Amino acid sequence: MKEKIESLKVLYREKIGNATLLKDLEDLKIRILGKKGELTELAREMRNLAAEEKPVIGQALNEAREFFTEILEEKFRILSAKAKEEKLKSETIDVTIPGDPVEMGSLHPVTATMDMIKEIFLDMGFDIADGPEVEYVKYNFDGLNFSGSHPSRNETDTFYITENVLLRTQTSPVQVRYMLEHKPPFRMISPGRVYRPDYDISHTPMFHQTEGLVVGDNISFADFKGILMHFAEKVFGKGSVRFRPHFFPFTEPSAEMDIECAICHGKGCRVCKGSGWLEILGCGMVHPNVLEYAGIDSAKYTGFAFGMGMERIAMLQHGIDDLRAFFENDVRFLRQFK
Ligand SMILES: [Zn+2]
Repeated sequence: MKEKIESLKVLYREKIGNATLLKDLEDLKIRILGKKGELTELAREMRNLAAEEKPVIGQALNEAREFFTEILEEKFRILSAKAKEEKLKSETIDVTIPGDPVEMGSLHPVTATMDMIKEIFLDMGFDIADGPEVEYVKYNFDGLNFSGSHPSRNETDTFYITENVLLRTQTSPVQVRYMLEHKPPFRMISPGRVYRPDYDISHTPMFHQTEGLVVGDNISFADFKGILMHFAEKVFGKGSVRFRPHFFPFTEPSAEMDIECAICHGKGCRVCKGSGWLEILGCGMVHPNVLEYAGIDSAKYTGFAFGMGMERIAMLQHGIDDLRAFFENDVRFLRQFK
């Protein structure tokens, strides 16, 4: 039996030495040390041996097992290192090949316009305030000096939830809330969604507004003219502006601000309907009643307010003539704003 073990050693040492593939080595390992391997078979035959021979052969078998384990491990190391080296040699990466394109989404044009407007006012030190879209009548109308019979209060112009609760028709109620919580001086804008029951080429039941409010000592019409002209220049570039008298319940005096048509530069075109001017926002000096409602002393403080539709600004920026396009989610339309 000892000779058998020795001849196995000689035979398999040579085979292991000659192996060139990891797979062959794996096979050899199974054939020598596996459950049905040569050494295991020999161990089984031990039961036929005389008692005094058993310890001697047992030890020889253990030594053989250790011997093979060792030389197999050594050979595995050599062959794996070689395989790795060959793999690295054969696999080269061409870094000049373009990668697979990843389809990127983009901001909705109204969101992009709103972000841009926020940036402009943040740069001028304005605070950005938020408020509920489901609002109390008192903040949406009463606090803004709308008379009890003002047509905007009609059910044809406002979505009511109950008698006292509605979907806000403007973001101005945020200003009322802000005035109740802050002491002047302050300057803030309140961008957000508003709701009115209209649907045609220039109206959708939901749209976006940004309204702004500045309150402090000696705030004058000249201050707001300067701020709004700076704003218009940032959005539409240098050009003339004009203020036309208008009426809003919450401001006195009130005005609408036009900019020189950015498309025809005042000559008159389809977008400006031949007038050469584009209306971009409404504004005015805050009505004393609005300040008083919010607990601000109108003898001490003055302020101005302005408001504009985000869709309108986006339409003028991009030359879009139907407001409804913003909300139809046609990807062919939206893709153009990447
Ligand atoms: Zn024009």
